[in-house]
Amino acid sequence: MEKDGFFYVKGEVMSKDLKIYNSLSGEKETFASIVPNQVGMYVCGPTVYSDVHLGNCRTFISFDMIYRYLLHLDYKVRYIRNITDAGHLENDADEGEDKISKKARLEELEPMEIVQKYATGFHDVMRLFNALPPSIEPTATGHIIEQIEITKSILEKGLAYESNGSVYFDVMKYDETSNYGELSKRKIEDLISGSRALDGQQEKRNPLDFALWKKASPSHIMRWPSPWSDGFPGWHLECTAMSHKYLGDEFDIHGGGMDLKFPHHECEIAQATAYTGKKPVNYWMHTNMLTLNGKKMSKSTGNNLLPYELFSGENQNIEKGYHPMVARFFMMQAHYRSELDFSSDALNASEKGFAKLMSGLGLVPSLKVSSESSENVKQMIEGFYAAMNDDFNTPILIARLFDAVTYINKVNDQKAEISAVDRDELAKVMQELVSDVLGLQPILASGLSDDAKNTLDATMDIILELRKNARAAKDWGTSDLIRDKLKEAGIVVKDEREGTSWSLQ
Ligand code: AMP
Ligand code: ZN
Repeated sequence: MEKDGFFYVKGEVMSKDLKIYNSLSGEKETFASIVPNQVGMYVCGPTVYSDVHLGNCRTFISFDMIYRYLLHLDYKVRYIRNITDAGHLENDADEGEDKISKKARLEELEPMEIVQKYATGFHDVMRLFNALPPSIEPTATGHIIEQIEITKSILEKGLAYESNGSVYFDVMKYDETSNYGELSKRKIEDLISGSRALDGQQEKRNPLDFALWKKASPSHIMRWPSPWSDGFPGWHLECTAMSHKYLGDEFDIHGGGMDLKFPHHECEIAQATAYTGKKPVNYWMHTNMLTLNGKKMSKSTGNNLLPYELFSGENQNIEKGYHPMVARFFMMQAHYRSELDFSSDALNASEKGFAKLMSGLGLVPSLKVSSESSENVKQMIEGFYAAMNDDFNTPILIARLFDAVTYINKVNDQKAEISAVDRDELAKVMQELVSDVLGLQPILASGLSDDAKNTLDATMDIILELRKNARAAKDWGTSDLIRDKLKEAGIVVKDEREGTSWSLQ
């Protein structure tokens, strides 16, 4: 398929080739959206009761890459990522204090002050990692009415029951006509035999049942009136309410970290199916965990690294600070479904690799062209897309981009050749994949505003003019000094037959 007289294919044609690993079927499936050329995607967002750690960031950066690739394929994507600002209790079995209320009590703040503080921090971090904002970022507290309506409807259908002011989903009843455990591949009998009645859960008919609505204890600050009690929604319900409101009964993709598969996503499927009579999601996607010292990064165990510690190097697990783009590149070097362990050695290798990729990318537009290419550039580009279409395989894409960089460097050293058409196409595709899809920006440029970039351009024009004058006067000492000092400052100057060019390292 040709585009603009060349082989560059994306949009409708490429998107037909996209395969996604669906956690529901346990297989890679060819992606077909419900509405042609449109995608509805819901990703469970953070519970904003403390700073996000790098593990959380990995999940959101993975979905950012997925969102970006779908946009790159010309899909119109409605990407919903919620903020959990109520209802997430300390314990997955509907027990314990609300995480946000607890933090509010400890910090002597209003719960909404906690929410504001950590949601703002989350947005700042996402911006540093160059993650695009979602299309809608709804909150649990902004959708209490919807959650009450869904609870009423499930009660009417006989798939939930009220007990002492709380409402619980009846898992056994649901399992008579559906399959509870279908996503996490758990058998209900095993779940029952593995469950135990927890203190304070006598209200439940079965320990597997989960809360749709919980009556608030007198000390529980975050509470809303409902037909059953002054209380708050169960954690799982918010995602059903918000995904249903913005994406409908059935939508394309639902994502989250794999630790959310059970019980959270399993319960979401049960609630939504009970509510609408339809299976809500066609493709369930789960990202794997970021580990530190071989163990899952987690807020509750304290085995974690916070983004600002990574940037500043102020953490005993790393030997120095790393730029957010290096961390993003490091994450992109692993497939989103593979576990990834964080270490300084791995980060150091990524730092070098990132610099190599970006300097190769910077060279392409100004490569000297020949009548023919000595390598098959069309095949190279197809290889990039084949990697991404194979369940967003970014490590393979990056390996293929490095092969292209080797070729680019050879052309630059006049040991290989590239045609004008191939050069322009390679420059365009590589730039789009690195910047638009992987979300990687040159390190210096990533921190600069447009105004600052213009000022830098003008300044570099002056410096290179002065250097040109020095060279004309055969003042090689000054000319080399300018080049070396610029290199130290992160700017690479290149002298070519056509003139002198510069790029940010
Ligand atoms: P939470 O704020 O705890 O609800 O988590 C927000 C998101 O981060 C969820 O999708 C989790 O699955 C994900 N997550 C938590 N810990 C990790 C980790 N160590 N690595 C990757 N993702 C994680
Ligand atoms: Zn969720």
